[in-house]
Amino acid sequence: MLGQMMTQPLLISSLIDHAERYHGQTEIVSVETDGTVTQTNWSEVARNARRLGSALTKLGLEPQDRIGTLAWNNRRHLEIYYATSGAGFVCHTINPRLFPEQLTYIINHAQDRVLFFDATFIPLVAALQEGLGEVHHFVLMGPRDDEAAAQIDGLQFYDELIETGDADFAWPDLDENTASGLCYTSGTTGHPKGVLYSHRSTVLHGFASNARDVIGYSAMDVVMPVVPMFHVNAWGSPYGCAMSGSRMVLPGPGLHGEALVNLIDTYSVTVAMGVPTIWQGLLAHAAQSDSNLASLERTVIGGAACPPSMIETFREVYDVDTVHAWGMSEMSPLGSTNVPIAKHRDLPIDEQHRLRESQGRPPYGVELKIVDDDGNDLPHDGETQGDLMVRGPWVLDSYFQMQDEALLQDGWFATGDVATLDADGYMTIRDRSKDIIKSGGEWISSVELENIAVAHPKLATAAVVGVPHPKWDERPILVAVKAEGEEPSEEELLSFFDGKIAKWQVPDKVVFIDALPLNATGKVLKRTLRTQFADALTG
Ligand code: ADP
Repeated sequence: MLGQMMTQPLLISSLIDHAERYHGQTEIVSVETDGTVTQTNWSEVARNARRLGSALTKLGLEPQDRIGTLAWNNRRHLEIYYATSGAGFVCHTINPRLFPEQLTYIINHAQDRVLFFDATFIPLVAALQEGLGEVHHFVLMGPRDDEAAAQIDGLQFYDELIETGDADFAWPDLDENTASGLCYTSGTTGHPKGVLYSHRSTVLHGFASNARDVIGYSAMDVVMPVVPMFHVNAWGSPYGCAMSGSRMVLPGPGLHGEALVNLIDTYSVTVAMGVPTIWQGLLAHAAQSDSNLASLERTVIGGAACPPSMIETFREVYDVDTVHAWGMSEMSPLGSTNVPIAKHRDLPIDEQHRLRESQGRPPYGVELKIVDDDGNDLPHDGETQGDLMVRGPWVLDSYFQMQDEALLQDGWFATGDVATLDADGYMTIRDRSKDIIKSGGEWISSVELENIAVAHPKLATAAVVGVPHPKWDERPILVAVKAEGEEPSEEELLSFFDGKIAKWQVPDKVVFIDALPLNATGKVLKRTLRTQFADALTG
């Protein structure tokens, strides 16, 4: 006998068991839907998860049945995460900001059998209920509420449902490849598509996120995922934090700057994660308040390109290190994080700062490459740009209940992003392939132009899109939202690009708009802007 190691399956239930056993008293702060704050801990979350897992099992669901959630980041949502997956069901987190027709489509396509929802969504669920014939149980995440019961047929209540469960419920032994979670992409083209995670992919992603060069949660940290639990599992933080025994602050529905600054200061948050638009609000409020975000050590910013000016403000004004991260639903989501390597240490400080601006390098478990239109590999020279391809054990193999033989190319998933890669693996997203601007055969990165524009003090935010041009096919225009009380001129905004990029890349025009159109995950809807301003250069 050669002898070998144990082959314990990688199960989500083992994460909550671990957190309960070794970090049971570690606090979790939860802002409830009505704004009140509850304190719980990993032990209580684990106990409630077992009771709920048991209660769901008693409902007579089939293994792998999908269980939907329409909910904010709060303690019950966390318990549902562990109860559903742990008991062998699939936790299907739904983005409540989608259009009602999209929600109906997604819930029916996923065949959700149970739908948990926060009080915020009572009117929404009441309006949708008739079209959701396959949902057998509608559960309000709270105590009994007769007013809500009058609006939704057969309404059940979370706090009563868990009472029917057994706190000694034993998690079933599952194959680690069993499905555990489901998220739909926001579907900017066509119907939303489901990405089905497994216990194995989720636990491996959790290990990776816990590496020091990725997010590296610690039992010393207070982690606030501002990124919603309905958006790629809050980037895996509920799993990563259980694994390392971190304290958590779950911010509930209010994600405006003032609420977030208060939470950071009140609960001494050390690590916070979210998309750039959230931090714009937070920084704007922090600048007006007397908070200096003293406890905050790190922000992890991703989901859209993080403007260098934001990284600089966090660093220079608040002494906060920003880790710029890139990923997507199809990657669970972590694909890369920007943290330095040893050889950067001796570079001039400005150069070190500049190197922190790109989307970073992949952790172990993610492989990246770029290819041309014919699928040929392109050099990793930091300059050549191509279609970004990925593979790894937490990368999508096929969409939920969709046959698409051509989805992978030689086992690689095409991200839809255009990027450069350098010899050390540092990746720079130039654009989404559908947003890149093709001007007379040359490519212009809208991301690069936006990064420059948003640093202008008279702008609140801005986007760059390509619109038809008689000579160059397409040229960039700057769609700008003025900062409060400011009246920037077109000339001063365009001259702001001088010396920062080649002259031919400077936008042809500035158009002003009151607010940028955003999709359900807070990303700018460039397609809408392209249509709206299609005649900007020809009209
Ligand atoms: P969707 O595709 O539905 O918008 P995702 O939230 O999965 O859903 O978005 C993934 C995409 O977001 C990536 O392919 C990329 O284009 C963009 N993205 C994510 N992080 C970054 C980042 N740090 N910089 C630039 N783009 C990013």
